Amino acid sequence: MAIIMDGNRLSRDVRNHVTSEALRLKQNRGIVPGLAVILVGEDAASKIYVKRKESACKEVGFLSREFRLPHDTTQKKILQIIRELNHDQSIHGILVQLPLPGHINPDTVIETIDPRKDVDGFHPWNVGRLFSGDPYHIACTPRGIVEMIDRHGIEIEGKEAVIVGRSNIVGKPLALLLLNRHATVTICHSRTKNLSEVTKRADILIAAAGRPEMIKSGMIKDGAVVIDVGINRLDNGRLVGDVAFAEVAEKASHITPVPGGVGPMTIAMLLVNTLKAASL
Ligand code: NDP
Repeated sequence: MAIIMDGNRLSRDVRNHVTSEALRLKQNRGIVPGLAVILVGEDAASKIYVKRKESACKEVGFLSREFRLPHDTTQKKILQIIRELNHDQSIHGILVQLPLPGHINPDTVIETIDPRKDVDGFHPWNVGRLFSGDPYHIACTPRGIVEMIDRHGIEIEGKEAVIVGRSNIVGKPLALLLLNRHATVTICHSRTKNLSEVTKRADILIAAAGRPEMIKSGMIKDGAVVIDVGINRLDNGRLVGDVAFAEVAEKASHITPVPGGVGPMTIAMLLVNTLKAASL
């Protein structure tokens, strides 16, 4: 039976560290880290994520400012708010919750954020820094995954890492992070042929496809480390990942649960990035 990588426990350790660092920053330099979160529209999942981010901020002693804007807010208005926040000295991190309504261009919005306040790590400047092996703000989910692997003492260097999913927010940045750590990285996607032949090679397998329980035990090698990024709501209301947890846990050496795995680490890394932005 695999070791369960408990994201709730690991993220608590990270948050405790952030809390004490934030206190030191306040005592020594009078700085309180500030995060601004912009939410446009009524997407139910986005509302839940934003609420979690805000309460995490408050818990560690950060200032949290929320901008809840109606669905029909113009792009011009959003860009104006971002420009003001770029110059606001009490705000060190700016986050625009995705997805945005169709009339707004997410690239334009992200590119308007001061890259040093881009705590999601999505700005092309941050993406480029990661690409060149000298990252500044690293996207939170990939960073949280690597943190989980490290905190379990699992070696990355020289390992075969296989990622299922090539999105800009998970698959691609994670591939670069693992490559920077000297893993041999393969990225799979919907047009990968013989997927299970590739996934079976993985010492470290990361599933980020958004397909409920698509990774079965026959697709992994004995003793693999299996990280499940997927969050899928089934018709019966149950939340599952991209990995068939029970059967894969029989064969893996380590596995993350859903919920309580990668999700809490993502939020913890947002706090780490905001602390960094405030500390400079
Ligand atoms: P996207 O939909 O942007 O990307 C999904 C990727 O998976 C695409 O590259 C797609 O391939 C690939 N894919 C889809 N189906 C298959 C398949 N059958 N075989 C192989 N590859 C496939 O998703 P995200 O990266 O944004 O998110 C992925 C999952 O992770 C979602 O469930 C999301 O909810 C969750 N998530 C969780 C987070 C957390 O904090 N825990 C944070 C972010 C996301 P192609 O490019 O060819 O279409």
